[in-house]
Amino acid sequence: MSDAVQILKDLEPAREFFIGIDSDGCVFDSMELKHKECFCPQFINHFGLQAVSKYARETWQFVNLYSTTRGVNRFKALVRALELLADRDEVKARAVVPSRAEGVRKWIERESKLGNPALKAEIERNPDPDLQQAMAWSLEVNEVIGKIVRDVPPFPGVVESIKCMNQKADTVVVSQTPAEALEREWKEHGIDGLVRAIAGQEMGTKAEHLALAARDKYPADKILMLGDAPGDFKAARANGALFYPVVPGAEEAAWQRFRDEALDRFFAGTYAGDYEKKLIREFEKSLPENPPWS
Ligand SMILES: [Mg+2]
Repeated sequence: MSDAVQILKDLEPAREFFIGIDSDGCVFDSMELKHKECFCPQFINHFGLQAVSKYARETWQFVNLYSTTRGVNRFKALVRALELLADRDEVKARAVVPSRAEGVRKWIERESKLGNPALKAEIERNPDPDLQQAMAWSLEVNEVIGKIVRDVPPFPGVVESIKCMNQKADTVVVSQTPAEALEREWKEHGIDGLVRAIAGQEMGTKAEHLALAARDKYPADKILMLGDAPGDFKAARANGALFYPVVPGAEEAAWQRFRDEALDRFFAGTYAGDYEKKLIREFEKSLPENPPWS
């Protein structure tokens, strides 16, 4: 087990409740900037999609921002975007055949720590060209994010909200972003000290983070996950935990409601049931499953 994972395993409860907080699109308004300016241009460049760049861009944004797969791990997003793109009539009409990234697909099936360190180790054992292409893309994405993503503060009201959480809960960042970017972003805004740990993609999936940091340490109804994507909801439910949605496009209102009522309900034991169900229904309506072009 890596040292990074051990940090989560070693966390001892200091407070009665546990709250896992997603970062991109939940705490920081960084999803549009990261995907449109960093991930997508490198997707087009590294995967030879210049001739269909308009459709590649639309597909990348659908997968990562505007559908049920919003916020998914970058390697899963890569495979999904290439698959959807290959299926598009506009792409076939231009005789462009996007890679199926077969090697990446197979790696995803057997690995859960879908980050650059695990990919690098895999390439050392198995120098598959698909894996090497994904690695080059992923490394350049990180480089561009390092250059471009700055001065993107947390959504209004987030800092006060985390301070309120900390009165009764241990808080941990649960994210699929690389640890170095997470630490840079939380430090840049002086909020890294507000949480007990910061878990990124190298520490496994979000469900694994919650399992390591919280499950069997707190009662399930005292564990809450906050996020802006269906994957955050699934990670919560995989651990029997509660979920609070930060609805994409209505984040400020979501944080306001969290401070005004949801957090108090969670602490009072009246969050589960009808209240949570209503919030989740609203959230599910905000993200479609199928692309508008299909
Ligand atoms: Mg997110």
